[in-house]
Amino acid sequence: MTLQELPTPCYVVEEGLIEENLKILRGVAERTGARILLAQKAFSMYALYPLIGRYLSGATASGLYEARLCAEEMAAPLALEGKACENHIFSPAYAEKDFAEILQYCDHLVFNSWNQVKKYGKRAKAAGKCIGLRINPECSTQEGHAIYDPCAPGSRLGVTREEFEKVFMEEREGIMPKGLHKLLDGLHFHTLCEQDSDALEETLEAVEKNFRAYLGNIKWINFGGGHHITRKGYDISRLEKCIRRMQELYGLTVYLEPGEAVALNAGFLVASVLETVYNGKNIAILDTSAACHMPDVLEMPYRPPLESSGEPGEKPFTYRLGGPTCLAGDVIGDYSFDRPLKEGDRLIFGDMAIYSMVKNNTFNGMPLPSIVLRDKTGEYRIWKTFGYGDFKERL
Ligand SMILES: *Cc1c(COP(=O)(O)O)cnc(C)c1O
Repeated sequence: MTLQELPTPCYVVEEGLIEENLKILRGVAERTGARILLAQKAFSMYALYPLIGRYLSGATASGLYEARLCAEEMAAPLALEGKACENHIFSPAYAEKDFAEILQYCDHLVFNSWNQVKKYGKRAKAAGKCIGLRINPECSTQEGHAIYDPCAPGSRLGVTREEFEKVFMEEREGIMPKGLHKLLDGLHFHTLCEQDSDALEETLEAVEKNFRAYLGNIKWINFGGGHHITRKGYDISRLEKCIRRMQELYGLTVYLEPGEAVALNAGFLVASVLETVYNGKNIAILDTSAACHMPDVLEMPYRPPLESSGEPGEKPFTYRLGGPTCLAGDVIGDYSFDRPLKEGDRLIFGDMAIYSMVKNNTFNGMPLPSIVLRDKTGEYRIWKTFGYGDFKERL
């Protein structure tokens, strides 16, 4: 099957490109001894979990279902190869009804408040698990993207220094059980989004300033995700300096849990032109939707890269590209082309492996794009197709 023959719309994930990212990440792990996990929320195409698990130390989950997916699709196949796979989880609040099952799958559980440690910590420790607390270093290093900034004022993510230190007084006063804080094996922070290691360095300074007294009492620290390690120009040596600092000063095992960096620029969304219309400008309507198939284009927002296209006006024919839904704002962006677009033309949007198939939806009854795996020989294999049933069954 060739690219031209693939059904559209479809996500194409390239195994070879994923593996290139994995080699970069494994390099960091091998040089420093840090442990790197896949954050499944960015990329959960489990056809590639065995490959990912061979390069990384495991995966992390945002809840029960991702934890189960890691257990079934990464840990189980790797166990057959005799390889270990760590299964971590963080949730802002765990539901009682999920907890017993989470304990079956996960070896590391990260909590978001002392009260959650009080509620679940002893059970987790009794089951032989490592437990951690997510801290909020109160150090914003990103501008403009408050919805991606866990350090923004009023954030519910992570315990601030003030809340962290309350536990010592509350233990003394009997409000919290004595020794509660001693249950912790590690601390976790996640504050970055598509950032370089200078932002990590700044964040670590805040972590040390606010939590130094506690760093000597734990075994590990998790730097979260948002490290754009596989992006061209990312400063890997500074990242490794940050890792070594925590290892050498405090004797800590360092975890990183990137999502984006694992599958960055490793996938495409192939779409077809359905129709062109004119309203003061040329507009092409595609069989893919920003709202349904690439929601981050509207949420972030950003203009995705598109093969063989230019900025508006750069090439002779400029079009606004939009989806077939009813949403007026279902617009992917303005692009220019060497030739006029016509029905049936194929367009290839870049960097569509991450935060795409994990976030898509069937608003307007839109069909979900097929998922195609391009293996290392260059062969295209249709991994999943979706139909009417996938729309109907959720309603
Ligand atoms: C989102 C998230 C990640 C992964 O972030 P990326 O930006 O995809 O690298 C890791 N850990 C936690 C707790 C997250 O919420």
